[in-house]
Amino acid sequence: MSKPPTVGIVSLGCPKALVDSERIITRLRSEGYQLSGSYEGADLVVVNTCGFLDSAKAESLDAIGEAIAENGKVIVTGCLGKEEGLIRASHPKVLEVTGPHQYEAVLSAVHAHLPQAHDPKIDLVPEGGFRLTPRHYAYLKISEGCNNRCSFCIIPSIRGDLASRPANAVLKEAESLVKAGVKELLVISQDTSAYGVDVKYAESKWKDRMVRARFYDLCKELGEFGAKESPIWVRLHYVYPYPHVDEVVGLMAEGKILPYLDIPFQHAAANVLKAMRRPANQDRVLDRIKAWRAICPDLTIRSSFIVGFPGETEEDFETLLDFIEEAEIDRAGCFKYENVEGAPSRDLPDHVDQDEVDERYDRFMEVQTELAHARGQAMIGRNIEVICDGWDEDAEAYACRSKADAPEIDGVVYVGSDNEIAEGTILSVRVTTAEGHELWASA
Ligand code: SF4
Repeated sequence: MSKPPTVGIVSLGCPKALVDSERIITRLRSEGYQLSGSYEGADLVVVNTCGFLDSAKAESLDAIGEAIAENGKVIVTGCLGKEEGLIRASHPKVLEVTGPHQYEAVLSAVHAHLPQAHDPKIDLVPEGGFRLTPRHYAYLKISEGCNNRCSFCIIPSIRGDLASRPANAVLKEAESLVKAGVKELLVISQDTSAYGVDVKYAESKWKDRMVRARFYDLCKELGEFGAKESPIWVRLHYVYPYPHVDEVVGLMAEGKILPYLDIPFQHAAANVLKAMRRPANQDRVLDRIKAWRAICPDLTIRSSFIVGFPGETEEDFETLLDFIEEAEIDRAGCFKYENVEGAPSRDLPDHVDQDEVDERYDRFMEVQTELAHARGQAMIGRNIEVICDGWDEDAEAYACRSKADAPEIDGVVYVGSDNEIAEGTILSVRVTTAEGHELWASA
């Protein structure tokens, strides 16, 4: 039998780009292509790029160059694909360039440059498709694009306006993932709480009922997947603090979905938020967070912030530090402002000196570290539920995550146990020690 054609894939960027890569892989495998984890084992390489920040563009261009040097046959897709001229100027040997979500175009390019003979014996795809995440968790993308126009962001110009998937398509995918062994669903999009606005919350048939494409309705249905003896964790990312998030916090208090909200606040000072073109009433945001915590005391809030945005004064920066303390932001990521090409914020006055940006970043991280330390100490002695991600050789313990920890971005709970703990097992542990975002516990 002749060797089937083999494709390698390099996936860069955010979880949304990762989902795109998974879809491409799923389609290729369903057509009988093989996958290779190395350049030399592949007949052709697909590079899924990121174009969010200038640093991400540079990383994408480097990855394309490496794939050409190591393999030679390269197809480029993803966010940077919008800038074909830039890619071709740096790498004229690239075979084809396609933009984000152009799965059909990627497949056509692979067919054209690496045709394959049909073989029904290899045309088998496991339930849930092929994924790049471990078997026990998966990203669930509910929409593409974004209706917001934050001044530092070029995503809407790359990915277009909000385009929500039908509720039954999302639920069908979630069901397939759960059947394939997934224990944790990570709901993602550019603006999760805006889900369905573009399709006027259209209903679609799911099982014996109609389900609206609406944030609350979708969360409620996703919360039905687990059972007491075999829970499924549902975690929400990229949520805006709109009033209708309140009802979803009610589902968290009922234990239907994880008490975790990833809300990219970006800043707290009204004038900076205005310049960023983000909602700018922080008093109302603080009241809303307090109300959420009253409904669901175990709620964890993760957020990301930008320091050194054009026009940010020392006073604005202190307002930001006060906010993360007062709002008790549990997980705070910080980015230094980047002057992204094509972003309207480039034209704003009063850009902050890089030394000042660096200094504010360091001060932010100091406050953040202190808050994390205090939070960790408060966890000692508590019994918590964790999900196991596998054995960690360095720590000589099982690396697990609590409900407050999303994979890759939050903390780890190291669990010592005499018994083997399988990946994806959800178990109760007792916290014994804390250091930064890391906890140590015993089973
Ligand atoms: S919400 Fe703002 S930062 Fe996020 S994708 Fe939309 S425009 Fe960009």
